[in-house]
Amino acid sequence: MFQKLKKPEEGEKIEYKNGKLLVPDDPIIPFFKGDGIGHDVVPAAISVLDKTAELIGKKVVWFEIYAGEEAYKLYGNYLPEDTLNAIREFRVALKGPLTTPVSGGYRSLNVTLRQVLDLYANVRPVYYIKGVPTPVKEPEKVNFVIFRESTEDVYAGIEWQKGSKEAMKFIEILERDFGIKIRKDSGIGVKPISEFATKRLVRLAIRYAIENKRRSVTLVHKGNIMKFTEGAFRDWGYEVAKNEFGEICITEEELIDKFNGKQPEGKIVVKDRIADNMFQQIILRSEEYDVIALPNLNGDYLSDAAAALVGGLGIAPGSDIGDGIAVFEPIHGSAPKYAKQNKVNPTAEILSGALMFEYLGWKKASEMIKKAVEITIQEGIVTYDLHRQIGGKLVGTKEFAEAVIANLETL
Ligand code: NAP
Repeated sequence: MFQKLKKPEEGEKIEYKNGKLLVPDDPIIPFFKGDGIGHDVVPAAISVLDKTAELIGKKVVWFEIYAGEEAYKLYGNYLPEDTLNAIREFRVALKGPLTTPVSGGYRSLNVTLRQVLDLYANVRPVYYIKGVPTPVKEPEKVNFVIFRESTEDVYAGIEWQKGSKEAMKFIEILERDFGIKIRKDSGIGVKPISEFATKRLVRLAIRYAIENKRRSVTLVHKGNIMKFTEGAFRDWGYEVAKNEFGEICITEEELIDKFNGKQPEGKIVVKDRIADNMFQQIILRSEEYDVIALPNLNGDYLSDAAAALVGGLGIAPGSDIGDGIAVFEPIHGSAPKYAKQNKVNPTAEILSGALMFEYLGWKKASEMIKKAVEITIQEGIVTYDLHRQIGGKLVGTKEFAEAVIANLETL
């Protein structure tokens, strides 16, 4: 099955039956370090995950796979089939960041990974960890879970360079058949947003809201300008809420008209906001937002902005979810200037692992990791990024993970 990988001898496969994951006590989980600081943060995170699993009587059997520069050296390919096959086969994986060159070079490996494995929802919880310095006065009011569609939109990679045969042909067809004039020296990109992809994303977001007793789901879009892509995203989102979750979901209008503005117990309010407004809403009225669903590009922007409210990229975890398949990764990139210096903050990678445990149904382990990270930061044990803001005891990536492990043992 694999060209250059050898499946671990021990451990069992996670299975997926009737829409549910069946997780053994010793799952085989593929991981790759990726590029740059992935070489620092992934081993640090694994050390914390191993200890936590042990404390709850489980064991992760790690299966190292390759992507990025390392994969290129080994396979002559940045994202080899072996890597994709291992994730397909074992269903849940942990990843480090991957470098993407701007403009020229190869296409984003992260985008390709999401598209090839149909990891259609990029899910990012954004919450405050006590002790982390933030730019806002009341960061504890921030508690969002962002569901960003990740297979479509302008990220679909359908674009052609200025002057290329394809771009010129497009420009010609638009003028000839639709009477639309575009400057001949334009690069061309296409923004597809489908009913299918929108509905499965919003379905996942609403299900998450129900299972986790969240209060609202906000559909964010730029439908006032892009009516048939972003506007349709909003309309299809409301359709899912009404047609599939009508017993539980109410709209904002219904909240006011039928319930006098008082949210009944057990109901979830589905509302929508235009993207530009949403950027100020999450800053000024954080407590009014909970689960947030958006198309790809706006989702990318909003999730970084939201992460900044609670202290920035070094601590923000993320995940890419499909049906019965999921990859967990920090929001931050490969920060090449800090690579292999044992310097950067591994919190985002550690918390991505906590999210992974939650996805496996190991909720206790996930909570333990979050708690141990919080205690460590409150003790003032921090990497350079937090140290330059709050001082404390400056440690390296590995030492931070060791401090988290020590705190895990006290829980
Ligand atoms: P980045 O790698 O996230 O780094 C930007 C800055 O964020 C760093 O210089 C550092 O700030 C801070 N930072 C990031 N991770 C940190 C950590 N763990 N601890 C402490 N500080 C951290 O973003 P970038 O420089 O724009 O991108 C570099 C490469 O990563 C690009 O090729 C990009 O395409 C790729 N990327 C990959 C992913 C992914 O794999 N999912 C995501 C985003 C970007 P200071 O220098 O101010 O300390």
